Amino acid sequence: MKNWLSQMKKVVGTKGFTDSPDEMQPWLTDWRGRYTGNAIAMISPGSTEQVSEIVKIAHQNKVTLVPQGGNSGMVGGATPDESGQAILLSLRRMNNIREIDAQDGLAICDAGVILQNFHEALDRQGQRFPLTLGGKGSATIGGLVSTNAGGTQVLRHGTMRALVAGLEAVLPDGSIYHGLSALKKDNRGYDLKQLLIGGEGTLGIVTAATVKTVPALLDRCVAWVGLASPQRAYKMLKFLDAKEGRALEGFEIVPKSCLQSVLEHIPGTRNPLDKFHEWNVLVEIVRDCPDAPAAQKVMEKLLEEAFENELADDAIIGTNETQAEQFWKIRDSIAEAERASGPALQHDISVPVSRMADFITDAGPDIERIFPDTKVAAFGHLGDGNVHFHVKGPDDVDPQKWMEENAKIITPTVHDLVMAAGGSISAEHGIGQNKLDELARLSNNAQMNALRSIKSALDPNSIMNPGKLVPLASKEPAS
Ligand SMILES: Cc1cc2nc3c(=O)[nH]c(=O)nc-3n(C[C@H](O)[C@H](O)[C@H](O)COP(=O)(O)OP(=O)(O)OC[C@H]3O[C@@H](n4cnc5c(N)ncnc54)[C@H](O)[C@@H]3O)c2cc1C
Repeated sequence: MKNWLSQMKKVVGTKGFTDSPDEMQPWLTDWRGRYTGNAIAMISPGSTEQVSEIVKIAHQNKVTLVPQGGNSGMVGGATPDESGQAILLSLRRMNNIREIDAQDGLAICDAGVILQNFHEALDRQGQRFPLTLGGKGSATIGGLVSTNAGGTQVLRHGTMRALVAGLEAVLPDGSIYHGLSALKKDNRGYDLKQLLIGGEGTLGIVTAATVKTVPALLDRCVAWVGLASPQRAYKMLKFLDAKEGRALEGFEIVPKSCLQSVLEHIPGTRNPLDKFHEWNVLVEIVRDCPDAPAAQKVMEKLLEEAFENELADDAIIGTNETQAEQFWKIRDSIAEAERASGPALQHDISVPVSRMADFITDAGPDIERIFPDTKVAAFGHLGDGNVHFHVKGPDDVDPQKWMEENAKIITPTVHDLVMAAGGSISAEHGIGQNKLDELARLSNNAQMNALRSIKSALDPNSIMNPGKLVPLASKEPAS
């Protein structure tokens, strides 16, 4: 065993060390199954001090570290390359909720705390963390911070950037950044915390975060609405926002094809409405203030008016939590159902909210026309101007081969349409290794130079998750 590797093993002990291929294997392929890498060992520190020791050894010996939380990321960011020279640095053992301060609406969590466990712990204390997503059973606080995750409550509460009040992290030389105190005002120059949020492990290892919490809901009401087009859905969004914006917490768009895919692949799901509509939206209204009317009453009134204004064609209100969960299960299972239904080129894109409906109705048919035999499914966070734009190939081709051949032509075409609409090629999943080339192709020199300069200033030996997020200088960006 290499000397530096024995030193690392000594730091974490046998509990935090494995180089067994069998034990490492589940963590060497990404959630979507698109990337598989190798690692010399998987190291799982049990404390911030251990992370710091490991990073110091890596820094001195120029060893590459690939941080990993729940491995639920969508862009191959937590998967090492194939060389087998990297250390997979798993934060999952650091899973302690250090503090919940309901009074101040703050909680401090270790990086490896799983989102669902955090939700449950807060619930027991009458609090909640207003960020959730389909991968909540695996996604960790460190991963959510490092990808600046979004999810289905961004409409009201923002992404991780809005929810992180402080961070603790180990920087690439092994020093510890102590930034957990939640200051409302702090003007001491560059905000390291914001650089680490969305940094995908390329600038340091997040070891803990102070996050904002809000009081638990008094009640909520979820409705499933059938309508004719994304434009109608956008009108509905504007209407709900104008009437009850403060209580509107979820607004997700689901096309008929995605609903059908869920019903086919996810056991225990059924169409909430009697017939299929071309488009559906899931609306969630919440009540967290005792003086406000019950969420169901608000929803009933809103939908009544929506029908009067011919915004909706059909709707069903979930009258209890079980029904609300069933509606959300459909939405949250789309990624899994789409994965089961065969290969698709997946694009996590955003455009200004007001332009998304037109983008969906224009770009979908455009792609299907340019690439005959493809089918587009766009679903997700319409209220945030962010949809997952999947382009599926024909049924009768070799899936892997089709993906490889078409990724190089279809994805750039989709991204060009997104850029023309003033959008972003990564709304919430990050860049990872999946979008490196496209980021380089579609970013200007100023942006690329700044990204590379920050990376090389903080991580001169490039030991922190190289090959992710920051394109190599040799890739010439557009001017
Ligand atoms: C079914 C499903 C639905 C999803 N829905 C959404 C959604 O709606 N919105 C959304 O934003 N995402 C969604 N995701 C993606 C995923 O859950 C998020 O990206 C999540 O933030 C990843 O967390 P993780 O702990 O699994 O991170 P990982 O996948 O392990 O890592 C993600 C990135 O963060 C880095 N990283 C991880 N931990 C640390 C750390 N402690 N310090 C430094 N770097 C670190 C990794 O190196 C990698 O670059 C979904 C995933 C699934 C499976």
